[in-house]
Amino acid sequence: MRISLRKHLARLGPWLDDVQETWIGWSLPPANRAIKDAGWKPDSAIVYCSRCGTTVGDGEATSLGCGSCRGKKINTNATVRLGPYSNELSEWVRCIKYQRWPEMGEELGTMLGSSLRDSGYVDFTNGIVVPMPMPWQRRMCRGIDHALVIAGAVASQLKMPLFRVLAKDNGIPQVAKSSTERIRSGGKGFKLTRRLGGWKLSGVQVILVDDVRTTGASIRGASKILKKAGSTNVIASVIAVSDELARRERSKTLPESPLALL
Ligand SMILES: [Zn+2]
Repeated sequence: MRISLRKHLARLGPWLDDVQETWIGWSLPPANRAIKDAGWKPDSAIVYCSRCGTTVGDGEATSLGCGSCRGKKINTNATVRLGPYSNELSEWVRCIKYQRWPEMGEELGTMLGSSLRDSGYVDFTNGIVVPMPMPWQRRMCRGIDHALVIAGAVASQLKMPLFRVLAKDNGIPQVAKSSTERIRSGGKGFKLTRRLGGWKLSGVQVILVDDVRTTGASIRGASKILKKAGSTNVIASVIAVSDELARRERSKTLPESPLALL
């Protein structure tokens, strides 16, 4: 493992202090109130690349993508996001995962559903919502399947069926890996489950839901399996994208939670 557990534990103190001061001190406020008080709003589609979700300036993205993804193979058909993984949005995502704050997951999932509806990408007659899978060992440890919570709210907002058709082998969490390691291994370990009911993936659009897109390796791995099973169209749908701008912003604030290693 590249980052030692001891190093992460040393960072636990300040991180928890900040979380406590910011959120626990309020005993976790109603999610909609936290969002309103922060004055936060989801991104409009013009501020990010519709192909990879990276933040872009005026005219920087075309139908062929942006400076980050143009010329690169991307096996999803579009990306819809709420914002960059920085400031309040990154804190909320971490609280959903590590403080078990499902209400915020549902609130942001509902907003993501609205952004998807407004995007014009959704095939309401022939689409399903699929959460990015979490290994059962990690779900037991964290006590929340955050992608499932977010995807449930997306499905409810879009009035579309949700199927947990993907599973993932246990392994080192993506957050504990370097970018290179994520790209190399993030797409591995996905498989189909038998939870499709009467549905077949053949010809179906999949709204693939996750909390954060970093290198895109996990989304690419999941999309590969879905398309192999016959899905013709996969829309990557994430709360946040950790692009260069977001990483610069985050370096000014909090370190990643050491609990992410669990
Ligand atoms: Zn792009």
